[in-house]
Amino acid sequence: MGKPTGFLEFERLSEPYAKVSERLRHYREFVGHLADDQAKVQGARCMDCGIPFCNSACPVNNNIPDFNDAVYRGNWREAIEILHSTNNFPEMTGRICPAPCEAACTLGINAEPVGIKSLEHAIIDKAGENGWVVPMVATVKTGRKVAIVGSGPAGLACAQQLARAGHDVTVFEKNEQVGGLLRFGIPDFKLDKRLIDWRAAQLKAEGVRFVTRTMVGTDVPAGVANDAVKLIAPEQLMQDFDAVVLAGGSETPRDLSIPGRDLEGVHYALEFLIPQNKEVAGGRKNAISAAGKHVVVIGGGDTGSDCVGTSNRHGAASVTQFELLPRPPECENKPLVWPYWPTKLRTSSSHDEGCQRDWSIATKAFVGGNGEMSGQLKGLKCVRLDWQDGKMIEVPGSEFEIRADLVFLAMGFTNPVASVLDGFGVARDARGNARATTDGAGCYATSVGKVFAAGDMRRGQSLVVWAIREGRQCARAVDEFLMGQSLLPR
Ligand SMILES: Cc1cc2nc3c(=O)[nH]c(=O)nc-3n(C[C@H](O)[C@H](O)[C@H](O)COP(=O)(O)OP(=O)(O)OC[C@H]3O[C@@H](n4cnc5c(N)ncnc54)[C@H](O)[C@@H]3O)c2cc1C
Ligand code: SF4
Repeated sequence: MGKPTGFLEFERLSEPYAKVSERLRHYREFVGHLADDQAKVQGARCMDCGIPFCNSACPVNNNIPDFNDAVYRGNWREAIEILHSTNNFPEMTGRICPAPCEAACTLGINAEPVGIKSLEHAIIDKAGENGWVVPMVATVKTGRKVAIVGSGPAGLACAQQLARAGHDVTVFEKNEQVGGLLRFGIPDFKLDKRLIDWRAAQLKAEGVRFVTRTMVGTDVPAGVANDAVKLIAPEQLMQDFDAVVLAGGSETPRDLSIPGRDLEGVHYALEFLIPQNKEVAGGRKNAISAAGKHVVVIGGGDTGSDCVGTSNRHGAASVTQFELLPRPPECENKPLVWPYWPTKLRTSSSHDEGCQRDWSIATKAFVGGNGEMSGQLKGLKCVRLDWQDGKMIEVPGSEFEIRADLVFLAMGFTNPVASVLDGFGVARDARGNARATTDGAGCYATSVGKVFAAGDMRRGQSLVVWAIREGRQCARAVDEFLMGQSLLPR
């Protein structure tokens, strides 16, 4: 601990955000990182707890007190080494992780927690600016070949670890560029896509081969997006590779099968977000425009929030977000929930940009216009809910209608695309995910020999940081399977 009294002396410092009026005019990132002297203050606030709860709450178990101290002392190079020792892609998590570490920070019990995520952001940006992130090419090659299906954070982390262990790694991706939801789900204003290109270049230099627009499976349709022009049969991969990792994400969106679902104007969130990311990258214009429209987003998570931010950048006339569950409390009951992730009201930067939010709302029907407009969405029929003992009860007489020209369904993802798992004959769990454990002998191995699974495809819809963890741990399991032992960290 650099400064024993830091937590008493210094307040938490927040990262600088561009003003709403300014950032709504573009799709670029608008959160800056702390200046060096501010980062030093932030690092000084860490108490270097005997039991660092931040460390165990972090899915990749970042050595947080160590890098906090390194930043306090101005040892930035040491800080990035500590960070990279547990996390392949801190440039992603430093931007878009919800930071469970901060919810678990001991200082957060009676003060503002250490701004751990802001330090992670500052460390990796400094490392990038100074050219400290260089390829780590394996000195000894094993001659073993591994195929990875899917290039999201799980697939990329797995690929990097395995390449560094000396294996010959090929990543198959059905979309035109690598990155998974980092590339085509999460908007540019949250994550600059040049960061994915930068990391992918490092992986390539480490020997990873990317094969894009290539779908592994038995038929081409899969998920909301598919740019594949080539199909590779699972049997082919089984024949050509010593191990296969399935990291295809959880791509089946939850639907709302109510009257009017087929009206023009009702879309899955990713039908809006993916083309938007492609447009920002210089591709075709997004066929869905929210300009001047009344938008309703159904679902209150990250995906819904991204639809809110994107609709506002289009110039929507109004944006409303409905959530089925009750409104959470403004603040958590700290003594009851700490150090666990608390249920509390979360307001994203996209919400701050303009959004009417409402909770305990069920949508009963999508309503079309009259006459020639009968196929076009014009509104929603909704009802308020009363939640009693975990059961939702419609409040009599609370039915209402709201105008809507566009609806985005952002209610999560139910499971991976089954045809991909079926193509390999992999057993699924009760939720339809690839069945594999995460601990003990045979972890990450599926029911089919030499086929492993990681990330959302195994655990179900989750977070980038969990995908990175699973990719890393799966890499170790594959390395052990191929070599009988592994020096890769878990
Ligand atoms: C809109 C949105 C916003 C989100 N925001 C956040 C956030 O702010 N913070 C956060 O932590 N998490 C966020 N998430 C969740 C996070 O993006 C995912 O949990 C994470 O990307 C999962 O990583 P993955 O590698 O398992 O799968 P994915 O990222 O889904 O990658 C899977 C890849 O596999 C490819 N693929 C699938 N099947 C095949 C096949 N058969 N052949 C070839 N390729 C295939 C897909 O095209 C895709 O590129 C968000 C999710 C969405 C949808
Ligand atoms: S829990 Fe908070 S104060 Fe304690 S070591 Fe972690 S970051 Fe520092």
